[in-house]
Amino acid sequence: MSMLKEGRPTTPVPVKEAHMAPQTATGNRALMLEEALIFEIGSTDTTGVDFAAAPQVVSRLGSLARTDSIGLPGLSEQETVRHYTRLSRQNYAIDLGLFPLGSCTMKHNPRLNEKVARMPGFADIHPLQPQSTVQGALAVIHELAAWLVTLTGMHSVAMSPKAGAHGELCGLLAIRAALEARGDARSVVLVPESAHGTNPATAAFCGYKVEDIPATAEGRVDLEALKARLGPDVAAVMITNPNTCGLFERDMKTISDAVHAAGAFVYCDGANFNAIVGRVRPGDLGVDAMHINLHKTFSTPHGGGGPGSGPVVLSEALTPFAPLPFVEKQGDSFALVEEETAEDHHAQTFGRMVAFHGQMGMFTRALTYILSHGADGLRQVANDAVLNANYILRSLDDVLDAPFGGSGPCMHEALFSDKGLAEGFTTLDIAKGLIDEGFHPMTMYFPLVVHGAMLVEPTETESKAALDQFILALRSLAERAKAGDEALKGAPYHAPRRRLDETLAARKPILTWTDPALAIAAE
Ligand SMILES: *Cc1c(COP(=O)(O)O)cnc(C)c1O
Repeated sequence: MSMLKEGRPTTPVPVKEAHMAPQTATGNRALMLEEALIFEIGSTDTTGVDFAAAPQVVSRLGSLARTDSIGLPGLSEQETVRHYTRLSRQNYAIDLGLFPLGSCTMKHNPRLNEKVARMPGFADIHPLQPQSTVQGALAVIHELAAWLVTLTGMHSVAMSPKAGAHGELCGLLAIRAALEARGDARSVVLVPESAHGTNPATAAFCGYKVEDIPATAEGRVDLEALKARLGPDVAAVMITNPNTCGLFERDMKTISDAVHAAGAFVYCDGANFNAIVGRVRPGDLGVDAMHINLHKTFSTPHGGGGPGSGPVVLSEALTPFAPLPFVEKQGDSFALVEEETAEDHHAQTFGRMVAFHGQMGMFTRALTYILSHGADGLRQVANDAVLNANYILRSLDDVLDAPFGGSGPCMHEALFSDKGLAEGFTTLDIAKGLIDEGFHPMTMYFPLVVHGAMLVEPTETESKAALDQFILALRSLAERAKAGDEALKGAPYHAPRRRLDETLAARKPILTWTDPALAIAAE
């Protein structure tokens, strides 16, 4: 029996190439199954359960009680399990293979983290429980906070922000509060050209005017251009270090000193902390605020845009403005402080980022990761991440252009450009080819300072064998793109879908499902 109903576009883009096998009757390709939407599989007339008719109860909703069916599809348990299992198989995951996205630090999520996070004492508690009953959880937050402060050499940490971008917002709100407290509201935030898109977005969201700082031919912040732009209207400079070209900003301390001399603050985007954890303390470089993506450096799951966590470490100057609430050790016990205190901590807090204290499940996982590595292990993480990225850079720089390859080793990610590909071949062709080779594509067309950028971050958790296989795939694709192999332009051939119209998908996404029968009736 086919589960597919008429009216649904189940036919993949026709395959013209002669070497491709003919279309199957189901549209399936071996174990690559076509899967309909749940509304198309199930019907409101059927139900997967077999309850005796519910006893008639008097509805207390009165006239508010719903009389129409809400139209949810009924499915058996097996149909439901198959539906979601099939969908999950159409997704790429770090548990399936190397995930080379640059800047994203897609590293293995150790199962030990999961085991600890699922312990009932952590998993079954509620943020509104009396504090005396969640002392262990507060101790976890306190200990993780202490590690983050120590590893970064900063003064304090705000634990509640829920992602890197949310952490950027927290940092800029603290900076704005600090400037306003001294009666010096400023209007401009400087952001280097190579910055992650969230940096200018955050600054604009906070009401600042965003101005670009150019990069040097070496891929680093142009120090002279930055110094020349500093002035009494500049509130902050947002710098990613290591930067998104995979390079360490060697002038960071000089930059910070100049920014401070001009009365502004230094925000560091710490998404790339994985490259330097245990080796460099941003506090020593004059940073005032930096977010740490627990879902990057500290191995908590990325979760499809789900439960991230972006604690923000703060300098002494910004600490009084940190958000509420925060965990404090009071004698032998821990307290979640919900109001301003007279202490340096939060004396002039800008308010709250979120209702509660942050992502408890991520704190548990991150602390497990930190404790299972120890300080020396974390330093080894950074060393191995950098080693793996350099192995990729040097294994491919004979077939792919490495724009900053001449300026020495990279940090945690290897950057290539589309220079030297045959006429008409692009980074997109290589990315799509990688899908056929069984890999998620690398980050592409970012950073913007490099034409047709390909940014590869292997992370330290990949074995040499896994790196070699990825290198083999990328090398073969680079050679095909240089030789002008037209077949590459049709990739991917082996994915559930072929090339999509990505512009249309981004500009005019269709996010709701309409019953085709109703759609026809409406016409
Ligand atoms: C991932 C990332 C961010 C944003 O972090 P999210 O947790 O995804 O919000 C910001 N900057 C850089 C450089 C990043 O790689």
